[in-house]
Amino acid sequence: MEPHLAYLCLLIPHTTQMLTLFFQDFVFTAIATVNRLQENIQWWYMSCDKCHKLATKETKNYYCKSCSIYPKKVTPRYRVRLQISDHTSTTSCTLFDEEAARLLNTSASKLLDTQDGKSEEVPKIIQQLCGRRLIFRFKLNDNNLTFGTQNYAVKRTFVPDDRLEMLYLDNKAEEELMDDEVDIVLMKKQNMPDTKSQNNKVSSGKLSCEQVPVKEEPHDSTG
Ligand SMILES: [Zn+2]
Repeated sequence: MEPHLAYLCLLIPHTTQMLTLFFQDFVFTAIATVNRLQENIQWWYMSCDKCHKLATKETKNYYCKSCSIYPKKVTPRYRVRLQISDHTSTTSCTLFDEEAARLLNTSASKLLDTQDGKSEEVPKIIQQLCGRRLIFRFKLNDNNLTFGTQNYAVKRTFVPDDRLEMLYLDNKAEEELMDDEVDIVLMKKQNMPDTKSQNNKVSSGKLSCEQVPVKEEPHDSTG
């Protein structure tokens, strides 16, 4: 599992200057504000119903390159490119169908129906994402990890609230408690009776032999 750490060290200078809440496997979570929608990129695509990948229009029918078929059914799905930032950095990410539908509370097909055939135009509901501060949970892919490509797939968004901010603070506290210094402080407290032996470099085997029997039992003297 060591590669994770190495990757993250490489990534941090480029991509995760943003306020980071969690690092777990290839997932990271950050609070950021949506600056704008990526220009010149359509907010939806026609998908093959079999694989959900891009189906391109060929004269009459849609063709799926991945499946090498003309799918019987195609469905519009979200693919919203956003530019986001926090006080330290700016980057871009992509909201895919499931999460965009959840966030916007409507499906891409329904939204297209309201567009009056102007499928190129960005619906107001998507434009209104601009300026919103959200918690983004990203899943890093090979391109992010290997090439430092700055376009992250958004796996989940959350609306920041007090509870989550508190959770963040809790996690911060835990992170700080991971410090070796804390180990030392706590160790000293535990071994208070024989602090001197700790400063001397006694072989650990001998030390532990001595420590075990010296266990006081204060609750022995009740009453
Ligand atoms: Zn397909």
